[in-house]
Amino acid sequence: MADKLTKAVTSNGLIRIYAVNSKDIADTAQKFHNTMPLGTAALGRLLTGAVLMGNMLKDEDTSLTLQMHGDGPLGRVLAVANSKGEVKGYIENPTADLPLNRIGKIDVGAGIGSGYLSVVKDMKMKEPYIGQVPIQTGEIGDDIAFYFAQSEQIASLVALGVLVDRDYSVKQAGGFIVQIMPDCDEFNLKKFEKSAEKITSVTAMLEKGLSNEEIIREVMQDFEVEILEETDVCYCCDCSEERMQRAIISLGKKEIQDIIDEQGEAEIVCQFCNKSYVYDKNRLEEMKNEAKR
Ligand SMILES: [Zn+2]
Repeated sequence: MADKLTKAVTSNGLIRIYAVNSKDIADTAQKFHNTMPLGTAALGRLLTGAVLMGNMLKDEDTSLTLQMHGDGPLGRVLAVANSKGEVKGYIENPTADLPLNRIGKIDVGAGIGSGYLSVVKDMKMKEPYIGQVPIQTGEIGDDIAFYFAQSEQIASLVALGVLVDRDYSVKQAGGFIVQIMPDCDEFNLKKFEKSAEKITSVTAMLEKGLSNEEIIREVMQDFEVEILEETDVCYCCDCSEERMQRAIISLGKKEIQDIIDEQGEAEIVCQFCNKSYVYDKNRLEEMKNEAKR
C-alpha cells in the first residue's frame, strides 16, 4: 500500500489541513540509512514534515530542503521534497543512540540538540528562498511550526510521529499540519484552539488504524471539513548517471586526474539511496576532457 497525502479545508475556508501516512517513506529511509530507533524517529519525522510542506509548493519545478543543524549526537539531518510527492533524506549519524526521555519516548529532541532549522526553496532559474530559525525543542514538529510562525507568518499546528517496532522497522509513521489562514477571525481561531486541546498524539491515531481522512475529521472535530485531494507520496531518489557525471566533471581537470592516478576508477554512492555509480579510467578521461577548468 502506497503512502498517501490528503489535503482538506474547513467549509468556511479559514483553516487548511494536510495529513499524510508516511509509513513506507520512513521505513524505506530506515533501510537505506540503517538507522537505529533514534535516527529512524528523527529522520522519519523530518521526511514526514518535508513531504507535507512539499505539497504546499505551488510550482512544479520547486524543491524544498528542510535541514536540522543541531549539536546533538544525530548530527545533521535533512530531507528534500517536491510538489510531486517525492521525498528523500539523509542523516549524518544514523546509529546514534540515547536513553528514552522522561516520558518513556524516543528522545528526538536531545538527539537533535540545539542549533537552527533551515528551509530552502529552490526555484529553477530563480534565487532560492532561504528561511532560518533557531531550533525550539528539536522534536521537529514544534520546530516546523515555529518556522511557519516566524518566517511565513502563518499560525500552524504541526504533529509528526514515528513508531519504531522491536525489529527496528517502522511500525507507524505519519503527521498533519493545520494552518490558520491570515483572514481567520478570532472566533474560529478560539474554536480551533479549544478543539485542538482534545487531540491525542498522531501515533496513537495511526495505531488505532485511522485513515488520513479520519485523522483530519478527528483533529478538526468541531468544524465541517471538505476533502480537497488525495495524492500518492513516496521515498524516491532522483539520482542518475547523468547527475553523478556532472558532479564529477564539476570537480575540475586536476582533481579528476588525481582520482585516475590514485584510484584508477571512481565510485560514487548516492547519499540518499545508497545507489553506487562506478566510472572506469576511460570514462574518467572523457569526463576530464569535458571539464572546463
Ligand atoms: Zn539516489
